[in-house]
Amino acid sequence: MESIIITIDGASSTGKSSLAKAIAKHYGFTHIDSGAMYRALTFYAQDKKLLNNRLFDVKTLISRLPTIDIDFSKNDEITLNGKTIEDEIRSMEVSNKVSIVAKEPRLRQFMVAKQRHLGAKGSVVMDGRDIGSVVFPNATIKFFLEASTEVRINRRHAELVEKGENVSVEEVHTNIEKRDHIDSNRDDSPLIVPENAIVLSNDKDGLMHIFTLATTEIDKHLT
Ligand code: C5P
Repeated sequence: MESIIITIDGASSTGKSSLAKAIAKHYGFTHIDSGAMYRALTFYAQDKKLLNNRLFDVKTLISRLPTIDIDFSKNDEITLNGKTIEDEIRSMEVSNKVSIVAKEPRLRQFMVAKQRHLGAKGSVVMDGRDIGSVVFPNATIKFFLEASTEVRINRRHAELVEKGENVSVEEVHTNIEKRDHIDSNRDDSPLIVPENAIVLSNDKDGLMHIFTLATTEIDKHLT
């Protein structure tokens, strides 16, 4: 069977990763969460004291790229130089800084190369902001997920609370608005609806509804 590439783009907490996971499981494809990769790089920069509230030493971070190995374990968990950092990358500390890291063109080039490499290994579902527009412009099928800000804030807040993070709805709201603004207005690979993408609204009907719409499209392609 030829390799299939499915891309799912959209703003934060529109439900991209849940849809990507469900599609990957259904078809036996690999799921790659590109946001987790940017989060891993942000965690590295914070851990190595290259990034805090006052400073971002992007030059040193760029010089360290050859020593930074970001990958996924067999059970889909993100790893940094061989160590699983799935919990660390979901913290508010990382969420508050990730878009600053992700707007640097040299850092994006590094990520895009890795993402293309991961996508060359077989059929994949990759979710992010620029996957259908920049990373895989010739993807088999592209989706773009939308949801209202209110739904996204509540979804993200519930996820964080479930993970034990002590965070207010206001903090989540501020973080989502700030990231939306940076991700949509940066010069390099801003968040856009990719050409030929199928737009799905994930507001009220839930995962099952968009999963059915998405798999109907994918099935058309596979038969
Ligand atoms: O998907 P998630 O919300 O975890 O992504 C975290 C951040 O990583 C985004 O807000 C964005 O700044 C960055 N990102 C990106 N390009 C991608 C995926 C994520 O710039 N393909």
